[in-house]
Amino acid sequence: MNHDARTNATPALRIIPREQHVISRKNISKAALRVLYRLNEAGYQAYLVGGAVRDLLLGGHPKDFDVATNATPDEVKKLFRNSRLIGRRFRLAHVVYGPEIIEVATFRGTGEEEGEGDRHIVDGRIVRDNVWGSIEEDAIRRDFRVNALYYDISDFSVRDYVGGMQDVEDRVLHLIGDPETRYREDPVRMLRAVRLAAKLNFRIDKAAAAPFDELGPLLGDAAPARLFDESLKLFLSGHGLKSFHMLEQTGLLKFMFPATARALKRGDKALRALIEQGLANTDARVAEGKSVTPAFLFAVLLWGEVRDLAHTWITKEMEPVAAWERAATHVIAEQCQRVAIPRRFTLTMEEIWGMQPRFEQVQRKRVFRLMAHPRFRAAFDFLLLRAAESPAVRELGAWWQHAQQLPHETLAAALSGSAGGAESSAPAAKPRKRRRRKPTSKAGNKSDPA
Ligand code: ATP
Ligand code: MG
Repeated sequence: MNHDARTNATPALRIIPREQHVISRKNISKAALRVLYRLNEAGYQAYLVGGAVRDLLLGGHPKDFDVATNATPDEVKKLFRNSRLIGRRFRLAHVVYGPEIIEVATFRGTGEEEGEGDRHIVDGRIVRDNVWGSIEEDAIRRDFRVNALYYDISDFSVRDYVGGMQDVEDRVLHLIGDPETRYREDPVRMLRAVRLAAKLNFRIDKAAAAPFDELGPLLGDAAPARLFDESLKLFLSGHGLKSFHMLEQTGLLKFMFPATARALKRGDKALRALIEQGLANTDARVAEGKSVTPAFLFAVLLWGEVRDLAHTWITKEMEPVAAWERAATHVIAEQCQRVAIPRRFTLTMEEIWGMQPRFEQVQRKRVFRLMAHPRFRAAFDFLLLRAAESPAVRELGAWWQHAQQLPHETLAAALSGSAGGAESSAPAAKPRKRRRRKPTSKAGNKSDPA
């Protein structure tokens, strides 16, 4: 930790007594309360900390509750039979109550004293942080002031060491300490700034946003698995559209999704519409408590590059099925160097993309085969999002929408009316005449694009 973190903007401890803040035990999970009380009764300090305190102060309903204590992980383990120790980089205890997990972390020290404890810093980056310390030290190693508030179970007060309470009131995110040092320690904090600003509707303080241009490239060194987790929190937590706009405005998008940023920079209006509508739909689903899938999200973000590459290769006489497959593989490979999208999701992305050209083929057999595909619904939703690409794509979407509503026999009869396809029988709109392709012996099940 840089020394600035202590001297710079660290007002004295402010204790906000119970009657002067809004946090009520009613809104804290039973499991978290049990952990806090048990630690406290065993003679340890125990605080609710981090996002939960922040969100409770803002009137929100935290999903997870983190606890900070002066008990070491081993002591926590002894106290709770239902606990396990996790993490190497950041060792802590998980106390498990059914489906709920309470994270119990021991106060981290600053580790400024030479050779003390187990903190490893490589090129200014913290790669391991297991130095125990005091609550004051624990507060200043946190990222934003609003994330460094402690709710004290012994008297229900909130302890504020860094001015977090004021920031909650002002709805602003200040980094604790010197921004450049803190981002160099952990570049993902830049994404956390954007994510929290989007989620909480806060602004990012000028000094905290100033280093983004210069230090954004450091995200290239961040662990791709961590960036995957972070991208789910950015885009699938109900504030995806706002996160996306903020990532663009701050210039950080290109370090996470280079292909997306490139396509948008080319002025691809249809792609912008697809992404914005896709994220708006996702936000709406989250608000309604419906499930959302990472595969669809990443398929949306990367579509522009896949489509353009496939078209370029098809123009250069590559066989269309091969061109689509190769484009998907290429874009996924590039993206996974930044953001490690697990294989089970990339497979679905490939299916969603691979089905897009197949929507243009509206002969009877193909229509029914496509509708029976396990990924049909996702691929069809995707087709609708593509409406801004061209009137033909919009018509195609309408055609498939209508086709699905027809009884099987009606659709079958309509489709068998014409030998070659939909011309005479298209139920709603006339789909684009499909491109001539070399006949392939066997229509692949996975992707069979025109
Ligand atoms: P969310 O609402 O998304 O859970 P959060 O602030 O609780 O937001 P967590 O990832 O759950 O985020 O982290 C819990 C707390 O741990 C944070 O509030 C902050 O105090 C601290 N923290 C998390 N990540 C970092 C980091 N990269 N650097 C410093 N402190 C961090
Ligand atoms: Mg949290």
